[in-house]
Amino acid sequence: MPMTGYRSITVSEEVYNKLVQFLEEHKDELKKQDVRSISSLVGHLVMYVIEADDILRRRAPWMRLVGFTEHGVVIEDKKIDRIVEVRLVNDDLFCELDQRDDCVHVGFAYAIPEVYNAMVARGKRPPQVWE
Ligand SMILES: [Zn+2]
Repeated sequence: MPMTGYRSITVSEEVYNKLVQFLEEHKDELKKQDVRSISSLVGHLVMYVIEADDILRRRAPWMRLVGFTEHGVVIEDKKIDRIVEVRLVNDDLFCELDQRDDCVHVGFAYAIPEVYNAMVARGKRPPQVWE
């Protein structure tokens, strides 16, 4: 039985093993976010994906991920009708269009799980985004 305020879920052996491997591989970065167990890792990842999806769909419906490049992502910004590249520069995300690291495009890039995970692995956190 789980503790009060917690619920149990069941995952396949394959998923569980992947979680164990992910936790081990990202132990140091995850500790900084207070993630020290499989349970807290699952909570962290699920909440992240839900929030990211919310940001992608609700906060910036005019932006769309076009694809990945070797060092970043390509985003379509329908509001300004432009294709924007957000690239990794000196271990930080940088918007080629705005020449900034805290514009909506960088914020959008952080909301993409693959980008988020790559940045967290570098010890980075999403910036406070300004429009
Ligand atoms: Zn930008």
